[in-house]
Amino acid sequence: MKCPVCGTDCISSAKDLLEKIPSIFLPCPDCCMRVLDKRAPPPTFDYLPPCSCGKRFIDEVFAHMFVVMAEEGDLRRTDPLIAVGSPLVHPGFDMDCPPFLPEKSLVLLSSRVTRKTAIRLMAEVPELRGVIKKENFIPGIADSDLNSVPKVYELLAGCDVRADVFPLCAGPLVIYKRQSLIHIEFPRTGYPKIRAVEAHVGNPPVNFFIDACSGVGTLGLTAAFLGVPHVIMNDAWYASAFWSAVNIGVNQDFLAIDRIKVFEQLEDIQNHPVTRDPIKIAETEGKQVIEVYQGDFHRLSTVLVPGSSPTSALDLFEKKDFNAIQKIKQDWLNRVGGEVFIP
Ligand SMILES: [Zn+2]
Ligand SMILES: [Zn+2]
Repeated sequence: MKCPVCGTDCISSAKDLLEKIPSIFLPCPDCCMRVLDKRAPPPTFDYLPPCSCGKRFIDEVFAHMFVVMAEEGDLRRTDPLIAVGSPLVHPGFDMDCPPFLPEKSLVLLSSRVTRKTAIRLMAEVPELRGVIKKENFIPGIADSDLNSVPKVYELLAGCDVRADVFPLCAGPLVIYKRQSLIHIEFPRTGYPKIRAVEAHVGNPPVNFFIDACSGVGTLGLTAAFLGVPHVIMNDAWYASAFWSAVNIGVNQDFLAIDRIKVFEQLEDIQNHPVTRDPIKIAETEGKQVIEVYQGDFHRLSTVLVPGSSPTSALDLFEKKDFNAIQKIKQDWLNRVGGEVFIP
């Protein structure tokens, strides 16, 4: 698929991406590994170039970015290496050891970097895929009542589309996203949300699953991977709904679907960044029907067949207020019925 951000082929099918994964971040016999203290400035103001195999150890890539950012005045030479920013590796998955990065495998999230430096970094650091300016807020929708205006991070240079790979019991799930527009959620050890979906879907799977606050579709597609015949994914934020639809296509080889009908292209959907009344964005044809809606989950019942009795995941933003959550769950049961859980 052509990438909507950079126009190149940086989005591949899950099948193609997974084939590369076993060796993608492993060194060749000639690769060298200089482990640096992230809490201290680099010991020398230099760096090694990538190995002849095209890969370079992540700390060395950070040393390179440190030198460029210090030369441009974004960092002082006395700053610790970690001041460069946070690495978002593409593709992201549970790794046993730090990666040796090939070309275009790193999105840098940095609060210190300026646009001028970001452009220079993209030109000089081959491992970079894109540079995002990190701000002091969560990108995308920050509350489930949709009262605040969503803010997003700025992509300063390159492309910020990257994938995460989730280990499901039914096989790995590949989820792409545009990182500057989406809440960055580092999965907790053991992937408790995915395990919760697997437990509630069961075996044989339930007939109908709703991922009511779907983000880019991880939990809804988890249910689809488990063989649920009818799945609905819904999110009020256009970027989440759009990437949920993209991710159906990315994982198509592992789903029982013949065709994906897309009702709103990116040009259309970005005209309504947040919607309350549900709008159908995409739908599959085949043995499995997967639907994507953009809308407020409180109103999703308006598009459901009465009495359809789904199993619903409510992956809410605010999980601390027990009474508020009970009220939302009860309200959902009154409108939709079936079973509901907070993953
Ligand atoms: Zn791209
Ligand atoms: Zn090498």
